[in-house]
Amino acid sequence: MKLLPTCHDVQTELTEYAEGSLPLSRRIGIWIHLLLCRVCAGFLRGLEALPGFAKASLAPPPTAPEVAAEALARVQATLRKP
Ligand SMILES: [Zn+2]
Repeated sequence: MKLLPTCHDVQTELTEYAEGSLPLSRRIGIWIHLLLCRVCAGFLRGLEALPGFAKASLAPPPTAPEVAAEALARVQATLRKP
């Protein structure tokens, strides 16, 4: 067992850490890592800043941005019709 998790470990488990679903021993290791590592602490701040923070919100969007933009444009065009 590693004494402290690596940046990769922390970033992999950051969602579970933020949700409080990790065992205490893992949480302590990650907490110490976050005190020492600005990069991972920044990831945590970014994660907590997400609106409606949840695991699902971290999943990649189901469509490419250009596809979504095209769909939005079509909806807006439809709404503008009398
Ligand atoms: Zn780190």
